[in-house]
Amino acid sequence: MTTLTFLGAAQTVTGSKYLLETGGRRVLVDCGLFQGLKDLRERNWAPLPFDPKLLDAVIFTHAHIDHTGYLPRLVSQGFKGRVFCTPGTADLCRIMLPDSGRLAEDDARDANREGYTKHAPALPLFTEDDAYQALTHLQPVGYDRPVPVSGAGTLSFADAGHLLGSAFARFTLEADSGQDVLFGGDLGRFNRPVLPDPSRVETADVLLIESTYGDRTHEADDGGARLAEIISTTIAGGGKVIIPAFAIGRVEEVIYWLKTLEDARRIPTVPVYVDSPMAVDALKHYANHSRDLDPDMQTGRGQMKAFTTRRFTAVASPQQSKEIQASNAPGIVVSASGMATGGRVLHHLKSALPRKRNTVLFVGYQAAGTRGRQLLEGADTVKIHGQLVPVGARIERIDSMSAHADAGEMMQWLRGFTKAPRMTYLVHGEPPAQAALKARIERELGWQVHVPEYLETVQL
Ligand SMILES: [Zn+2]
Repeated sequence: MTTLTFLGAAQTVTGSKYLLETGGRRVLVDCGLFQGLKDLRERNWAPLPFDPKLLDAVIFTHAHIDHTGYLPRLVSQGFKGRVFCTPGTADLCRIMLPDSGRLAEDDARDANREGYTKHAPALPLFTEDDAYQALTHLQPVGYDRPVPVSGAGTLSFADAGHLLGSAFARFTLEADSGQDVLFGGDLGRFNRPVLPDPSRVETADVLLIESTYGDRTHEADDGGARLAEIISTTIAGGGKVIIPAFAIGRVEEVIYWLKTLEDARRIPTVPVYVDSPMAVDALKHYANHSRDLDPDMQTGRGQMKAFTTRRFTAVASPQQSKEIQASNAPGIVVSASGMATGGRVLHHLKSALPRKRNTVLFVGYQAAGTRGRQLLEGADTVKIHGQLVPVGARIERIDSMSAHADAGEMMQWLRGFTKAPRMTYLVHGEPPAQAALKARIERELGWQVHVPEYLETVQL
């Protein structure tokens, strides 16, 4: 008997974790952190419904923290097995996981020092050391190279076009007459710069697919017109543009567009600061893995040209970051985190939000309960580091840079199947988006679709 338990990203967009139990073996696909609303974040502290010591292996679909960030905690609880992922994912994890351990430690320290915690003392979920320990478990495997996993089955990755190294993980079971389960991870987009299109998949017995934008159509790609308008207007008014971006993923596309607009003289040449050491490292990995990028980007290994504007600064020290925060000179700041839930962008927001001449521009999904969502919903004030900050700045969002397929693109990808999966599970979405996508798949494709609940177990 084979079962699948949904330990995260069930009717929400974070915390991806799916436990596959087959032939007496246990494999966890994705091992993500919950982010956003407090109720969700508290799940990160809840005990797992299985013993990490008895888990045979972990598989990562891609490096985003909501798919990998729980690994240090899993390892600190006794997980001893290997973590299968693509080489690109391994490289990004090497910068992301220690960084998130550092952030967790910093946040706990700030909370204790400034007394804005109800917990005494506030503890980090895991530390930077835990993260380094977790990295020793990574086992890189290239795309389309099937590997056996702990007697449970065979794993093969295909490019998902969502992030450097992102993959669909096809798991062919040893037991249960060799059924195969396709873990969709996050689905990228078609005809976008930087990353290739998601690869076509034709069959799977069981399919898990994300549904982040299951009820939405992204605004049509306008060739950067609105981005150019927002930047030009803000700079002309003497303001700064703060772009909270997932350090990894969106930063690359943001910089690509800034460079393209600057080269075409559609925006003025102003200082562009990437204030996230992790983002700067990630840009280098993108340059080093150029053969995994969109055919347009294959400029040769190690070339950073595509990812640098004329007055480009990779902000190195916290001191330099403070100078930029304090300065009133016009410029563009790209900083993490993308949903303004933590990281250096909070300091930039604290100084930029009160002033009318500045703009805060969101370029990725803003989950419920995050500061990003509050700002987009028109909050007059937001709380940052225990302090109420008034919102005077212009708040904007551009959806066309999303890394996630919209409903139409998901349907386009699903139409590549030559035979309906026996069951399709919708994960990684909020309930309205999931209901809409479920109805659409049933109506247009006639497939069986189920939206699992948190901690639900199904038999495969
Ligand atoms: Zn992702």
